[in-house]
Amino acid sequence: MIHGPCGSLNNNSLCMSDGKCTKRYPRDLLAETITGNDGYPLYRRRFTEDGGKSITLKVLNNIIDVDNRWVVPYSPLLLKTYNAHINVECCNSVKAIKYICKYVNKGNDVWQCLEWKI
Ligand SMILES: [Zn+2]
Repeated sequence: MIHGPCGSLNNNSLCMSDGKCTKRYPRDLLAETITGNDGYPLYRRRFTEDGGKSITLKVLNNIIDVDNRWVVPYSPLLLKTYNAHINVECCNSVKAIKYICKYVNKGNDVWQCLEWKI
């Protein structure tokens, strides 16, 4: 579950707009999960010195190093059970619920989002 890579590693990625990744990758490395000012969760992403992982990938004939800044939030159990790429997000505020409803309704997704009245 690695995003992209995009940005300076691949400016032609579909997630790029005005020179920036619209999905906000690569994310910051953090010691703890916190809720950002905009309500989006900022997940713990370990530094390699703190037990985080780093791998070398070959993408578009380029060899690149990828660390936890590029990992999309996931559940190993759901990936194994459904053999699919499933993005898992922590939902703990009204703003996060709005984000998830917006996310599942984008594009060709077949999911319908319930209307939340709080
Ligand atoms: Zn991107």
